[in-house]
Amino acid sequence: MAYEFFDSEVIDILDETDSVKRFIFKVTGFDNFTFKAGQFVMLDLPLDSKVTNRSYSIASNPSGNNTFELIIVYKPDGLGTNYLFDRVTVKKGSKVKCSKAIGKFTLDENTQKEICFICTGTGIAPFRSMILDLEKKGTLADKKINLIFGCRFEKDILYRKEFEKLADKYPNLNYFPVLSRQSDTWKGEKGYVHQVYEKKYAEKQPAIFYICGWKDMIMQARDTLQKMGYDRKEIKFELYD
Ligand SMILES: Cc1cc2nc3c(=O)[nH]c(=O)nc-3n(C[C@H](O)[C@H](O)[C@H](O)COP(=O)(O)OP(=O)(O)OC[C@H]3O[C@@H](n4cnc5c(N)ncnc54)[C@H](O)[C@@H]3O)c2cc1C
Repeated sequence: MAYEFFDSEVIDILDETDSVKRFIFKVTGFDNFTFKAGQFVMLDLPLDSKVTNRSYSIASNPSGNNTFELIIVYKPDGLGTNYLFDRVTVKKGSKVKCSKAIGKFTLDENTQKEICFICTGTGIAPFRSMILDLEKKGTLADKKINLIFGCRFEKDILYRKEFEKLADKYPNLNYFPVLSRQSDTWKGEKGYVHQVYEKKYAEKQPAIFYICGWKDMIMQARDTLQKMGYDRKEIKFELYD
């Protein structure tokens, strides 16, 4: 499928961790850039490659002002991220071509079931968008949400302060960063995301699962949840290649 690309401008770049940056874009190529929380955009980058576009989930909530945020992890041998992380080629004011918002990984806001978000790394992006969107709409307090977020070390936890603040404000929002390589000083969940949802859903209470990240984690989560007795329809995922 051929996608159409539009001008956008980088309006800010923030270092989130050593290897992850937040990019704020303003779409200038057309008015009324709209998206649903959970969708992604494609960036068309000037790469020396047959395939020049790269997909990124939108990490911000719909704002109505033509801006959106992406959170991107650097891949040492990656063509696209090497381009995006090069401070000379991409900086404030740089022009980047982006698509309209794409994808069906959006929240069923009418569900009566509890919601479980499972992610690793920058797979947090669509869930930040969904949670901020619910907060903006004033419905975040209405839902029980478990956010299970896997990282290696404490320093890798993305948007940590923001989620801690939200979880303090909304007792129904349970935030579980899970660290696989942190030493004994970490008081929170340890290991992998799988151990955490297996524990939280051992009673198989009605729930709908949204999973986002890289292939291995998603496939394992999908298989495990099905073995636990959840139906395919209750397990939605967005795969980052
Ligand atoms: C829906 C979706 C959302 C995503 N959201 C995020 C996000 O929010 N944050 C994030 O950090 N990453 C995200 N990703 C991953 C992202 O799209 C890139 O794969 C990642 O940034 C690495 O890109 P790269 O160009 O640096 O690496 P590369 O290894 O150069 O390329 C990555 C991918 O591009 C494709 N590709 C490259 N060259 C070719 C070729 N010659 N032929 C065919 N295919 C090719 C392949 O799928 C390859 O795996 C998302 C992916 C998808 C599909």
